[in-house]
Amino acid sequence: MGQNYQLGNDNRGWLLSVFEDDLTGLPTKVQHKLDATRILEQKAGRYAYVSCDVADVKYVSEMYGYAYGNVALKHIARVLSGHLSQDELVSRTTGDHFCMLLKYSDVKSLEKRILAMAEQASVFPIDQIGGTHKAIFNCGVYLIQGGEDINMIRARANAARKKNGTSFKTQITFYSSEDLVRELETKELEADVVRALRDKELEVYLQPKYDIHSEKIIGAEALIRWNHPEKGMLSPGRFIPACEANGFICTIDFYVLEEVCRNLRAWKEEGRQLVKISVNFSRRHLAEPDFVDRLIEAVRYYELQPSDLEIELTESVAYDEMGTLLKVMHQIKEAGFGLSMDDFGSGYSSLSLLREMPVDVLKLDKGFLDGCHGSGKEDRDKRIIYHIISMAKDLEITVLAEGVETEQQKEFLKALNCDMIQGYYYAKPMPTDCFADYLEKISA
Ligand code: C2E
Ligand code: MG
Ligand code: MG
Repeated sequence: MGQNYQLGNDNRGWLLSVFEDDLTGLPTKVQHKLDATRILEQKAGRYAYVSCDVADVKYVSEMYGYAYGNVALKHIARVLSGHLSQDELVSRTTGDHFCMLLKYSDVKSLEKRILAMAEQASVFPIDQIGGTHKAIFNCGVYLIQGGEDINMIRARANAARKKNGTSFKTQITFYSSEDLVRELETKELEADVVRALRDKELEVYLQPKYDIHSEKIIGAEALIRWNHPEKGMLSPGRFIPACEANGFICTIDFYVLEEVCRNLRAWKEEGRQLVKISVNFSRRHLAEPDFVDRLIEAVRYYELQPSDLEIELTESVAYDEMGTLLKVMHQIKEAGFGLSMDDFGSGYSSLSLLREMPVDVLKLDKGFLDGCHGSGKEDRDKRIIYHIISMAKDLEITVLAEGVETEQQKEFLKALNCDMIQGYYYAKPMPTDCFADYLEKISA
């Protein structure tokens, strides 16, 4: 590529595409890593690492054809590399992702410079419309301290980029000291979770679900708790998000499933009354090709029926995961498990999903019910609940309202013909042994 980048004069022509991007001529991720490490080792001044996504390239390719997407990428590469000075770098690391190593003297002027580069690079011609397209740059910046390795530097710039929300203009976010604290806490947590799984500190609690008319228990939801030796009983909100991010959630969810199956088996053998138990499964499982096979294997091992269990999936998956979500839902239903859609209404594609998803139960997000009390939007939330229930009924889907805390809420839901409720009004989540006794006592 241009004046700012020269492939070494060693004899590795056949490996060119590993080191140099065929399309733009920019260094690849591999070459970029080598070059950045070399420059940073020289310790010549202050450097920032910039990670940029140009989301619109995908859109341009799909809308006008790949040739236009390629024109856009070449234009971006040309503009960004044209802005570089000695010992600065730009690379195209993947499809629409660029990384830069830039020198800086103060943060304000660095931000201004990145913005100017992005503004210029983001406008490219589209012959087909006889005009230009303005793309959106989404950038994360890490100010290199010295001593970090290139993988950590890149991970921090990426983490800053991921903090950007959806916007129609260029966004530049810096990795902050709070991000560092969170990163260290997450690392500590990761080590801690490994120990928790080994030492069996994770416990399964069950929260009953009630038929709203008969007020009888007709099921229960399994909810994880961490009985931490120093921090006490931790609720999932304290560790599930980090476990979702690093993938540990897959181990945790199957641990919960096993515990539930083990208890159901024991209760069956003791001749106790059984109800269907639902288990939450993270969206991370959607990517696992053997997810449903593992569910089937677990029920077979404990000599249970798939219909003894219900799988709770959340609708709040990213748009490009919707197809996979529907596919997995059909597999779960075909295997004979109950299926519920958790936190309905908290995601963003509810209506189109509702048309196609093969669910038995729709769990109305607690947020709507919270809004029914003095939030100033009471009337709106009540109407939304009314319409969701009517719509689900029309589609012959059972509706369960989560987070019911008062008699007033229960009566309101009953009047709307909601089918099931779950919430502190009746019972909080409780240890599995207590649940078995509770069920016996209530049903006596
Ligand atoms: P969720 O699946 O929507 O579970 C319902 C949450 O609402 C539970 O919080 C439950 O304790 C709480 N809840 C129930 N009734 C009431 C009420 O009347 N008032 C209030 N304020 N809260 C109520 P919890 O146990 O803290 O779990 C939070 C979330 O963590 C769950 O939301 C679920 O998304 C996730 N989670 C819990 N266990 C697991 C698990 O084993 N695997 C996965 N993947 N996620 C889990
Ligand atoms: Mg749930
Ligand atoms: Mg829920």
